This record gives sequence, C-alpha cells and structure tokens, in this order.
Amino acid sequence: MDILKNINSINERIHNACKRSGRASSDITLVAVTKTIAPEIINTAITSGIKHIGENRVQELCDKYRDINTGVSHHLIGHLQTNKVKLIVDKVELIHSLDSERLAQEIQNRSQEISKITNVLLQVNISGERSKFGISPNEVDNMLEFVGGLPNIALKGLMTIAPINSDENQTREIFKNLYKLFVDISKKKYNNIYMQYLSMGMSNDFEIAIEEGANIIRVGSAIFKA
Ligand SMILES: *Cc1c(COP(=O)(O)O)cnc(C)c1O
Repeated sequence: MDILKNINSINERIHNACKRSGRASSDITLVAVTKTIAPEIINTAITSGIKHIGENRVQELCDKYRDINTGVSHHLIGHLQTNKVKLIVDKVELIHSLDSERLAQEIQNRSQEISKITNVLLQVNISGERSKFGISPNEVDNMLEFVGGLPNIALKGLMTIAPINSDENQTREIFKNLYKLFVDISKKKYNNIYMQYLSMGMSNDFEIAIEEGANIIRVGSAIFKA
C-alpha cells in the first residue's frame, strides 16, 4: 500500500475536478475514511498530509482514538445511535449523520453537559431508496426549525450517500438535488443553521460530487488500497 502515492493521485483528481467546474481546490476538504484501517496505517496517512479522518462506527472511533496522532480532526460519518452520542461528543469535529429529532435532542443534551457547541450535518436521503438512513427532503424544513431551538448544536450543512449501484447519471442527479436543497436553505433564515458544508462523494464518485458542488468528500478505499 503506497498511501502517499494514493493521496497525491486523489489530490490531483480533486484539482482537475475543481478546474473543470471553476472552483478552487482549497475549497475542498478531504476526509480520509478509516473504517477497518489500523491506527499505524492511519498515522501514515496523517504524516502524508491527511488532516481529517472519518469513522462510520462509534465503537471503532473510540477504540482507535487514543492511538491516532494528534492534530487531526475526527468526523463521525455513519449512522449514530442516540445511546452512543455521549461516547463521541467530546471527540468529534463534525457529525455528518444527523437524521432525527431524537438524535438532535441527545446531541444537544450531551453537548450542553460539556459546554460544547457540536457541529453537525443533516443527512438527507435524496434517492428515497436503498440507503436506510437520512431524512427525506420533505422533512428537512421541520428538522431545521427543531434544530434552530437547540443552542448547543450548529448545523453546518448537508450530507448524502449516493446508492451503491447507481450509474453516473443517477449519481449526478442525486448530487444536483442535494446542492439545490443546500442553496434553497441558504436563502432562508433559521437559528443555528449555517449552510457551509456539503458532504457528498466517495472513492467512486467524488469527482462528480465536486463538479456538483461538494466541498467535503469522504474517501476511503482509494486512499487505503494496495
Ligand atoms: C465507507 C464510507 C465512505 C468511503 O467509502 P469508499 O468507497 O471506501 O471511499 C464514505 N462515506 C461513508 C458514510 C462511508 O461509510
């Protein structure tokens, strides 16, 4: 596994996708997705320039947390169960997977206990199929009103996952729709809602995501492959 080479190649692809879409590569945050990857290897990625890492499971994030080099931001990108919020709220820079009012309330309560304002993204299920998690677009407005009343949450943007088997056109359509929603919300006024980040795109589709407006991409296998 040549992690530095993989990262350089991804950065080059980010750069080219940005060029095609008239954007600056400095606008894009690369989150290295480290599920199933051992801490030593994650630390190699960090010394190769990675500044953000993402885990999709709370248990795994906690197990590895102390063995990961400092100076890196931790992201929780997978489904978050309400009873596990307390385990990670002090560790993460951004939770990508807010998907219910109950979860928002628990993040509020646990953040308040430690006097923290926790950054979250709302996970939206644009495709309406396959992916089990994320709220549907027509529930977004109520959710934003609800989160607006929670002072220890800063809702910083939106996240989605394209279905695994969708073709390029379907994927692009999903990303376009999330971007539209992002722009629509940006024009409205809610408390505690800042449409700053759009998290979409993984190893197989991050270039499409960038072309359609993503500024956070979550890339795992393309970094840690052999
Ligand atoms: C695993 C995972 C990724 C990264 O997937 P790759 O295809 O390995 O790049 C991104 N986002 C989420 C939510 C994931 O669980």
